[in-house]
Amino acid sequence: MARQFYTKSGQLLKIGTGSGTKWQWLKKGRPDEEKAQLHNELVDNLLRTINCGYRHLDTAEVYTTQPEVAAAVKKSGIPREEFWITTKYFPGVSHQAALTKGPIEFVNKALKELETDYLDLLLIHHPFVTPGLKDYLSLGDLWKEVIELKKQGLVREIGVSNFAVPHLKEVFESAGSEEFYPVVNQIEFHPFLQNQSKGIVDFCKRHNILIEAYGPLSPLFRADEENENVATFKKFLSELSSKYDKTEAQILLRYTIQKGLLPITTSSNEERIKQSLEVYGFELDDSDVNQIDELGSKFKFRKFFNDQYAAG
Ligand code: NDP
Repeated sequence: MARQFYTKSGQLLKIGTGSGTKWQWLKKGRPDEEKAQLHNELVDNLLRTINCGYRHLDTAEVYTTQPEVAAAVKKSGIPREEFWITTKYFPGVSHQAALTKGPIEFVNKALKELETDYLDLLLIHHPFVTPGLKDYLSLGDLWKEVIELKKQGLVREIGVSNFAVPHLKEVFESAGSEEFYPVVNQIEFHPFLQNQSKGIVDFCKRHNILIEAYGPLSPLFRADEENENVATFKKFLSELSSKYDKTEAQILLRYTIQKGLLPITTSSNEERIKQSLEVYGFELDDSDVNQIDELGSKFKFRKFFNDQYAAG
């Protein structure tokens, strides 16, 4: 069974909702008035999601959405301990330097923006640290700061994102003991990308690292519709939708859960938000999960970190 986590109030961690990627680009370079509008739109969106029952909120330094998460949590009136809040330190990549000097400086800033005194989960956003960039730290040195934050009690759990096996081994070495190994690896995962990097899913399972799956709905709208393998896959998905009387998105999310991963999804549509949470009350037959694996593996699609993983 996949590793399980609980909110401080004792609720099992379930499917998460993101506030990622799109908002940072929307906000960039906009006049203050438009930024304020976007802020309100995201707060409303997150609040709607919370009101539908989500307690697992995913944000990151680079998304610039921590203040919106704080505002939505506050507006909901629900105690902080009932939420699970994940954020991610951005360590810089290719030509873009880190935004803060390291995880310790970042977390102190994040706690203020999130208006909380602890994080449920801190992740290193990606492993592609680049020597020569301002405030560069090796993965091993980054991890030492992360461990320090855990020791100080500012973060409950520590993990990584987009890490391949060699990156994880580097972090294990820096950690010294299993007590301080990462407990989560958040990666892109869906039937068209069943291993973001070579052997990563098995490796994480063997080391009791929960994999969080971002982009789990990609096959619905990001893949090349003209491709014959995509068409065959989608036909099967549609058959499963009829067989289980669930939407195609629910089938994909349920598939992710049965593979032992925890999905992180998003939607601006209330009906779809609700549906995505209703994936715990039914089960796909093993043969259907296997067939999704089989048909999905005939087409490869990667949305994020394409350049970095080009060789894989
Ligand atoms: P998904 O694959 O779940 O895609 C979400 C998109 O799917 C939304 O645009 C939504 O559009 C659409 N959608 C939702 N439900 C349905 C449906 N029933 N039918 C058709 N379309 C649907 O996940 P994301 O790629 O958005 O990633 C989720 C989160 O993961 C991010 O917000 C972020 O927090 C995290 N993430 C982390 C990364 C990392 O490097 N660690 C990288 C990328 C994401 P609509 O609003 O119209 O419903």
